[in-house]
Amino acid sequence: CGIVGYVGDNKSLEVLLGGLKRLEYRGYDSAGVAIIDPEGHIGTRKRSGKLQMLVDDLETTPLANGATGIGHTRWATHGGPTDRNAHPQLGDNGKLALIHNGIIENFYELKEGLLAKGETFTSDTDSEVAAILVGHAYQETGDLTEALRLVVAKLHGAFTLLVMHEDQPGVVVGARRNSPLVIGLGDGENFLGSDVAAFVEFTRRAVAIGQDQIVTLRTDSVVVTDFDGNPVETEEFDIQWDA
Ligand code: GLU
Repeated sequence: CGIVGYVGDNKSLEVLLGGLKRLEYRGYDSAGVAIIDPEGHIGTRKRSGKLQMLVDDLETTPLANGATGIGHTRWATHGGPTDRNAHPQLGDNGKLALIHNGIIENFYELKEGLLAKGETFTSDTDSEVAAILVGHAYQETGDLTEALRLVVAKLHGAFTLLVMHEDQPGVVVGARRNSPLVIGLGDGENFLGSDVAAFVEFTRRAVAIGQDQIVTLRTDSVVVTDFDGNPVETEEFDIQWDA
């Protein structure tokens, strides 16, 4: 439902929770974040219920902050609104975190293929299938952008996907089809959001991502390509917003 991504300073948690707060108006049933800490480990926290429950939980038991993170508010379509079905979903033995907006229509046949290979699942979501597939593709390619590109080619339906991997700290990769994703440009930091509300507090400079495109976000670069890997021309625009 709502998506935020961040690469920059060691303040992901504040950016992600602030962004999710401003996306609350869209409605949701669960919320979660994943952050790569300075040691290079992914920490995840997710809760069904109000965002405030996640915030309270993080105050009682803090999660290590870091410079790379993703955050999600979920509106359940596949699997009930429970903690384990909340996003992020994990792949590659917990080394990869993924968030998803939308519906992967062919998830069931993809899941059956993975189950037949002995893969285990920890949620009932369509999204976890994508997390596990990107994990496998990362094992094959060693590159997160390439891995996501291989997987989106197999997916039908509507999706905005953000992924990050412990082996590539400082990188968030996003893809979109029939579901929105916008880039926010900062100074030594960059943002992704399902809409500009996710990052308007931090920057007014934005770049739209077109249908069937992938973005590789780092602190100092933003690269957009199509699903075949061809570079795409992007155009910056100013966010007009009375915040
Ligand atoms: N289909 C996914 C799920 O049910 C994502 C739903 C959403 O867009 O929040 O977990």
